[in-house]
Amino acid sequence: MTQEENPRNIAIERADELKKKIEEYLVIKDSIPRGLSNLQQEKIQQKKEKILSILNAREKDWNDWKWQIKNKIWDVELLSKIIDLKDFEIENIKKVQQRYRWAISPYYLSLIDDDKFNPVKLQSVPVLAEMSQYGCMDPMSEEYTNPAGAITRRYPDRLIINVTNVCSSYCRHCQRRRNIGTTDLHQTRSVLVESIEYIKNNPEIRDVLITGGDPLTLPDSEIDWLLHEIHAIPSVELIRIGTRVLVNMPQRITEELLNVLKKYSPLYINTQFNHPLEITKESKEACEKLANIGIPLGNQAVLLNGINNDKYIMRLLNQELLKCKVRPYYIFHAKYVMGTTHFNTSVDDGIEIMEYLRGYTSGMAIPTYVINAPNGYGKTPILPQYLISRGKDYIKIRTWEGRCFDYPNHSTKDLKSIL
Ligand SMILES: *Cc1c(COP(=O)(O)O)cnc(C)c1O
Ligand code: SF4
Repeated sequence: MTQEENPRNIAIERADELKKKIEEYLVIKDSIPRGLSNLQQEKIQQKKEKILSILNAREKDWNDWKWQIKNKIWDVELLSKIIDLKDFEIENIKKVQQRYRWAISPYYLSLIDDDKFNPVKLQSVPVLAEMSQYGCMDPMSEEYTNPAGAITRRYPDRLIINVTNVCSSYCRHCQRRRNIGTTDLHQTRSVLVESIEYIKNNPEIRDVLITGGDPLTLPDSEIDWLLHEIHAIPSVELIRIGTRVLVNMPQRITEELLNVLKKYSPLYINTQFNHPLEITKESKEACEKLANIGIPLGNQAVLLNGINNDKYIMRLLNQELLKCKVRPYYIFHAKYVMGTTHFNTSVDDGIEIMEYLRGYTSGMAIPTYVINAPNGYGKTPILPQYLISRGKDYIKIRTWEGRCFDYPNHSTKDLKSIL
């Protein structure tokens, strides 16, 4: 055996090759703002103190989600006292707010620093581009998939109930902007009862998603009632809650709420972190509290121009999520919704991100990239090509590094005829 054929030497060479593949990321990673970094935590703390002093409030208030909701900032004069806004930005907010409402929880606002392209600012402070007439209000035709109550049904065995249009902050990229409307509205009991009746009468429904708006803006008692009603339906196997409070109001995860949620296992929670800056000490603690009572957590990011349409930001985001026990679940391609089209990216951006996740990082950190088909025909996965061609008894595959192999592919034999 020559020196070159020695397995150990081959393995060392390969390890060196792999090491080179991550060098660029390791350098760039450090320049991406992370909510858990010391520098960012300090900035957040300073902004928090500033907000508390302007609102004449105390630490105790800050940690109270009801105070956070009551003190949502929706006044541009007040906003301009808290974050740096140029005169033209103030004028633009005034224009946009005549058409679309905006509001930011004090907590979420504390994540905005002086960076002109701060990802939280981009997601929460209105800009003139929202006045563009491009896009449609309801690209998914939700009205045509609403068989009863507040239900959206697009699949054979599962559906969504929209329980409120209230959120702790209103995302500028909200894909349900149409539902957010102009005033706060929790669904009435009668609409919820009608939705629950529909599920009872259609026992093929085994998976119920509670969404909005943000369902966790409802009072504990209402959440308890709703979960109790749905949980009691024998054909329902699991319940999911879609919420963004882990991102923009982690104070919502109280002991009282945990005591409600833990009664309704198996309960899953999906949230929407879009940038590593949003993963702070507070949000990490909130995630851990949920995970520790046995609630599996998932993340449904939205691919957003200028925020996360970048292979390294997405990689870091998904790795940071795993540290908080949140499993990346989806990356949604942003729909062409009026008022949000400045966030739209090409599908190629999404494919590039997926290309630089597989192989480069833990499979656990890899969500599915999906496009919502028009007319509510369902989520459709988009992947780079790994199956590149096929022949009679083989397929040709491409690995994450671009190595190509023929791989045998014979038709499956009936096991009964073999044994
Ligand atoms: C996204 C969605 C679901 C859930 O889909 P999964 O792929 O199971 O997460 C269910 N109903 C509707 C209407 C949806 O839009
Ligand atoms: S939390 Fe969800 S529903 Fe509410 S504004 Fe943001 S994206 Fe829309």
